[in-house]
Parts: sequence; C-alpha cells; structure tokens
Amino acid sequence: MAIGSNYVRILQLLLLLNASIAFGQSIICSSCNKEVEGDYLKIGNKYFHPDHFVCDYCKKLLPDRFMSDNSKYYHSECYAEVKGLKCEYCKKIIADEYMISQNKKYHKRCYEQISPKCRICDKTLVGTFSVDYYGNKYHSYHENEFPRCTCCHRLISKSITNGGRNYSDGRSICNICFSDAIFDQGRISGLLEKVRSKLSSMGIPIPSSQISISGVSVTELKRVAGDYFSDDVKGFCETSILTTNKNQTKYSHKIYILNGLPAINLESIIAHELLHVWIAQNTKRVLSKSVTEGSCNYVSYLYLVSQNSTLLVKQLIDKIEKDPSPVYGGGFRTIRNKFANKSISLFLSYLRNGE
Ligand SMILES: [Zn+2]
Ligand SMILES: [Zn+2]
Ligand SMILES: [Zn+2]
Ligand SMILES: [Zn+2]
Ligand SMILES: [Zn+2]
Ligand SMILES: [Zn+2]
Repeated sequence: MAIGSNYVRILQLLLLLNASIAFGQSIICSSCNKEVEGDYLKIGNKYFHPDHFVCDYCKKLLPDRFMSDNSKYYHSECYAEVKGLKCEYCKKIIADEYMISQNKKYHKRCYEQISPKCRICDKTLVGTFSVDYYGNKYHSYHENEFPRCTCCHRLISKSITNGGRNYSDGRSICNICFSDAIFDQGRISGLLEKVRSKLSSMGIPIPSSQISISGVSVTELKRVAGDYFSDDVKGFCETSILTTNKNQTKYSHKIYILNGLPAINLESIIAHELLHVWIAQNTKRVLSKSVTEGSCNYVSYLYLVSQNSTLLVKQLIDKIEKDPSPVYGGGFRTIRNKFANKSISLFLSYLRNGE
C-alpha cells in the first residue's frame, strides 16, 4: 500500500488570438508545422490552428480544460486511460491522491471500502498487521493487550474467540478450545486406547496393559517431571521395572499429560508419550535426548497426519515442524529427513539397534 499523486497540471487558460494582430512574425502550428494565418491558440509558448489542438490519445479536439504532461495534451479521461489512473474499486478516474495496493490504484475513499478491517477494533488496517493461523487480521499492537490461548494461540478476545478463561495453573484457554476441553479421567483413558490402537495399526506395537494415564495441571506435571520439565513438555512418561528375572522384564508406565485441552491436542501428546513407552521396552542402546524427543515428536506428527485435516490439526503439525527447540524441533527434523520415505519398521529398528 502506498500513496500516489497525480502530478499533472490542469490548464484552464486557453488563448484564442488572431495571427493578423501579430506583426512581423509568422506563427507556426505545433501540430501540423504549417503557418497559421487566421485564428490561433497559444498554449504556453506553443501555437496551434484552433482545430489542430487535439488530444494526444483520442485525437479529438480538446476543450478549455485539459491535462498537460510532458508537452502532450489530453482530455482528463484520456489521460487517466494513458496513465492507468483508474480506481480499481469504482472504475472511475483518479484525479488527485490515490492509494496503491498490490500494484492497483484506488481513490482514498474507495480503498477504505476494500481494505481489511481489524478483527478486534474494526478500524482499517494500513501497512503491516498481524494475521493468525485462522486468518484473523488485527493491528499488531493488540498482541500486547490480550493473552494467547494455550492450545490454538489465538488472541483471547471477545471478537476472535468469544472470550476465554484462566486455569488455576496459569494457563489461558479460549472459549472455542475450552468447549472441547477434556478433564475427565475416563475420557482421557479412552483417548489412550484410541491412540494406542492407531499406533499399533501403523506398525508401532504398544502393549495394552502396564500403561496408566492421568490428566494433570501444569503444576502437577512440573512436580512429576522434575528436571525434565520445560515449557515444551506437555506430558511425561515414568517407567519402572517391576520384576526382572533372566528372561522377562515387566514394566509399569505412568503417563501424565496436561488436562483441559481438546481431544486432538491430547491425542498428539499421548502419541508422543507412547513412543517413550516403546523406547523404554525395546531400546537397549543409549539414545541422545534429541533422537528420543525428535522420534517421539515424529510419531506425534505421523499420528496427526493420519487424522482429518482440521485447522487445529494443521496448526499442531505446523508447530512440530517449526519448533525452534534444537531437541524437540531439531531432533524431529533430523528423524523425519531420515525416515520420511522409509517404512516404520526401519525407523523402529534404528531406535532399537542404531544404523
Ligand atoms: Zn495546424
Ligand atoms: Zn482524448
Ligand atoms: Zn474509486
Ligand atoms: Zn485494531
Ligand atoms: Zn484456543
Ligand atoms: Zn518426550
């Protein structure tokens, strides 16, 4: 978007004189280059036969109001045509200041009609502004005025999310996400079973016993994860070995995931934690943190990709792909580059045995 200006002068003074009055000099028409013997027109320091003073564009006679540009003369409509000075919105000619947006020109007032409006304050957006994942456009300074939803990252505001609420652990959630938020333990266990059987069908076998799951607050997750906790951590898997004899090891896996999120968000966290379960039971070698977390995120990603592609699903995928953390994001990108076009069994045997 820019402001342009029509720099052309409009000449109003048109002198009609008679050559016979001009003594001692011959008057040459600037159009036909022949001598003028009767009436002539004087425009600046040029002379014309009255019927030779024509528009450079349409070649028709000019009225006494015309446009002058670079020693050429035009009807104002013809000038607009020549210069492309037509408003894209109302299709009428632009005679003074105009707005340029994406190489198209607009009257200032017409631009107001088509320019985007701020989703929050309803004023016209000019210059750079913010657009969220859901296409809401708003003045960037509103980002400091409203909290972001812990799930969808939209600004929690009346107009965008119909408000929202704060959880006692400090998270803010918008009312759109809150309407799908799950706290119920029974439903969370149901999601565990849903994701477990999906992963098994994808070729990642996870035992159905020996795994328990709890939905917890950030405060509780911080307590159980201890040193492992960071803002990237949405779940935690605690594995203990119950009995070991020479041939058999029995495991108990306790998964903790953040509660109060929509199902698909919980499922993506569960998929991540279930690969931790798989690694605990199957990998004897020591994996680096970025291989471990990158692989768990890769399974979370594969799970999301297998789901109906809603905006939230796309956003969760996008978040994994663009995660700036070297462990979670960098680790994920390395694993995906390695195994994107390979079978799941190759991926699992890499985790089990190395290259
Ligand atoms: Zn002439
Ligand atoms: Zn013309
Ligand atoms: Zn217009
Ligand atoms: Zn605004
Ligand atoms: Zn939300
Ligand atoms: Zn993890």
